[in-house]
Amino acid sequence: MYLTPGPSELYPTVASHIADDLKNNVCSLSHRGKEFEKIFARTVSTIKALLEIPEKYHIFFTGCATEWMERLLENCVAKSSFHFVNGAFSERFFEMSRELKKQPTKYEAEFGTGFTCADAEIPDSAELICFTHNETSSGVAVPLKDIYAVRKKFPNALIALDVVSSVPFIRVDYAHVDAAFFSVQKGFGMPAGLGVLLVNNRCIEKARTIEAEGASTGTYHSFSSLLAKSIKNQTPETPNVLGISVLGKVCEDMQERGIERIRRETAQKARMLYDFLDTSAVFTALVKNKAHRSNTIIVFTAQGGGIIKKAIAVLASENLIAGTGYGKYEDAHIRIGNFPAHRVEVMERVVDVLKKIA
Ligand SMILES: *Cc1c(COP(=O)(O)O)cnc(C)c1O
Repeated sequence: MYLTPGPSELYPTVASHIADDLKNNVCSLSHRGKEFEKIFARTVSTIKALLEIPEKYHIFFTGCATEWMERLLENCVAKSSFHFVNGAFSERFFEMSRELKKQPTKYEAEFGTGFTCADAEIPDSAELICFTHNETSSGVAVPLKDIYAVRKKFPNALIALDVVSSVPFIRVDYAHVDAAFFSVQKGFGMPAGLGVLLVNNRCIEKARTIEAEGASTGTYHSFSSLLAKSIKNQTPETPNVLGISVLGKVCEDMQERGIERIRRETAQKARMLYDFLDTSAVFTALVKNKAHRSNTIIVFTAQGGGIIKKAIAVLASENLIAGTGYGKYEDAHIRIGNFPAHRVEVMERVVDVLKKIA
């Protein structure tokens, strides 16, 4: 059982959906044909239903989530973006903007801590405000109400949300954000290789304005190009048809199991692990402020050398594959992905194994 932050354990129905799709030649279908268009339309509508995305938002597909950072910067920023940065993924978004010469500015918080969003000095020139809702490197989440408050204070800027490691757990009111993106190898428990972006018409209009001014918004994955194809239930390039098909089915499975139940169980599992960490003499949660703790990526550390390595090995001997720390924290932290594929009993076993380590 993989409890890694991503890729992670496959959702239990994924193998049979892939087998069915292979049997039905889904991988050989033309992406310009009616059958693919049906698959596209079905997946778009099941994603919208599961995540309660307003009907008029557009959904685009690509190969990964990272690409959406670049596409958002190209299509929604003429001059300047603003970033909330507190770990590797939010930093990457910021750096990408610098590489694209978009003159980004940022509000930074230390690794393992969240933001006091109201203190952020966001320049009026910021066209796109970028949040990494759940910083997968450190296990810090931004409370949604703080994001909505920023939106209220800066109504002219567009708000983009990286929700890669928080969907489908997090229930976003998408009316308060203009764009959100994710990939499928984390919370959706699928093979990697599919990124999903949802955008509203403000983002599309912004891209058109940039184009009208003679600047580039990219080529085959400019929003104009993606939109022109998506209204026909198609993609500009040959897409990951299998991934798109399986995602639609997984969304249906999650609806059937009950998204509220999935969310309740996710919170319950997170509470179990944090309760243990808060009382353990050996392990401590990295994120001290409970309001900023992620429910879906739980990061912890230990006093004394070697304990983290030992804990990872003991968990592995029980067939519980935990994630190491991110980057330079590889040997210092354990990261546990808490996704719909992980049942309550699995987290009980994790806690039981950790309890025995001293
Ligand atoms: C994993 C992750 C990404 C990158 O996703 P890819 O599909 O590898 O591009 C981006 N942001 C966050 C928060 C992530 O956890």
